[in-house]
Amino acid sequence: MISVKQVWEQILKEIEKKMSALPFDLFISTLEPICIYKEKTLVLLVSTEANLNIIQKRHATAIKEATKKAYPSINDVQYILNDEVSMYEKFRDAMQEAPTFFDEQNQDCVNFYRAYTFDNYVVGKSNEYASAVARAVAEKPGSKYNPLFIYGGVGLGKTHLMHAIGNYYTQNNKNLKVAYVSAEKFTNDLIESFRDKCDIDAKKDFRNKYRNLDCLMIDDIQFIAKTNSTQEEIFHTFNDLYLAGKQIIISSDRPPKEIALLEERLRTRFESGVLADIAQPDLEMRIAILQRMCATENVNINNEVLQIIAERVTNNVRDLKGLLTKVLSYAPLIGRDYNDTEVVLSALKDYSNDKNEVITLERIIEEICNYYGVKEAELVGKKKNKEIVMPRQVAIYLVTEFLTMPLTAIGEYFGGRDHTTIMYARDKISSSIKENASIEKQVKDVKDLILKR
Ligand code: ADP
Ligand code: MG
Repeated sequence: MISVKQVWEQILKEIEKKMSALPFDLFISTLEPICIYKEKTLVLLVSTEANLNIIQKRHATAIKEATKKAYPSINDVQYILNDEVSMYEKFRDAMQEAPTFFDEQNQDCVNFYRAYTFDNYVVGKSNEYASAVARAVAEKPGSKYNPLFIYGGVGLGKTHLMHAIGNYYTQNNKNLKVAYVSAEKFTNDLIESFRDKCDIDAKKDFRNKYRNLDCLMIDDIQFIAKTNSTQEEIFHTFNDLYLAGKQIIISSDRPPKEIALLEERLRTRFESGVLADIAQPDLEMRIAILQRMCATENVNINNEVLQIIAERVTNNVRDLKGLLTKVLSYAPLIGRDYNDTEVVLSALKDYSNDKNEVITLERIIEEICNYYGVKEAELVGKKKNKEIVMPRQVAIYLVTEFLTMPLTAIGEYFGGRDHTTIMYARDKISSSIKENASIEKQVKDVKDLILKR
């Protein structure tokens, strides 16, 4: 059997023949081969989203051609980012039938991304509780902190923490049967196994696979299918594991009560354990993350530069790391030093932090109209039917929340309504949010749209 590394080396030789040295060094040589998926697709890890764009735009054809030339049996190349690695690493042996997700005989086949360890995880105010609980779960699975529900925005380190726990088990608790799946993978697996109603074995396999574990991690549970059967199956998987004292770790981009259509009994289960949130890192922590990254990569960047980068990205650690990578690759490209702040500023020129965009009245109205499928004229008009009153009240509520406009001015905008009407609408939604999950969800959805989260 040839390893994927050997395969990639052959392909690199082919690419090198056709490409000039600069793009080769900058982009191609930074790719990391992960596996040959199902013997047909070469899976390559790209270090940043920016690189991914460039490679897909400019170099994908050359890579594909070289691959075909070196290995005609491989007919596709797929590019992935860090957070997808875990899904593929188990297929790391190149030219061999891919092993199944979990297999009793071969417990090694659940692999965790090696870089996502506790050592590489910077702890600060925004994540200290989540990281402390994760450590406790790593050291003592199935004890106090069960289930563990980690939630927080995109790119804030949820997957990293789960892998850190997994890597810890791999090193210190080899006999533990651990599975890490995305909610999507779990759903697909389930649908596959339950497709044929008469195929009892397939169902049994599925249940054996997920219910005989010591630790089950489901990442991004918000993407779980809304079908009753999926939720039912999770519920039972969950109960079996929980009652047997096995560890369950769930991640999501929001707390259980905000996951729309999550069955009540599942929500209650998730809430019965430990809820640990990860918030956005403050400036100090963002700098610490960049410093840690420089130390790992062995580069010497001065703090002024790190400060510039950290000030630019506030809400996503993935982007933060991506920008540092961009600076590191950009400076040598133009023959300058990456400690030169001018160079850094021009490397960062294109990056704008969406969250810093000003929120305007127009923006709020636009998102409301898109979300509810109503027109602005109706929103500010006189109609009082249900379909329009609700969006109007939510709009008023959000305007009062996001903007510091006087109530009379808001009233004027909303078709010359009195300020007491505006107050009424605002207070109505504000109390409905607390009592009505559907309204709460609607408001949250529109808010997310406005904030482009
Ligand atoms: P999420 O799953 O929450 O979307 P990830 O776990 O994929 O986010 O993290 C995105 C990137 O940011 C990863 O490269 C991860 O290593 C990094 N990261 C996030 N939080 C931290 C942290 N506290 N310290 C170091 N790296 C972090
Ligand atoms: Mg993730």
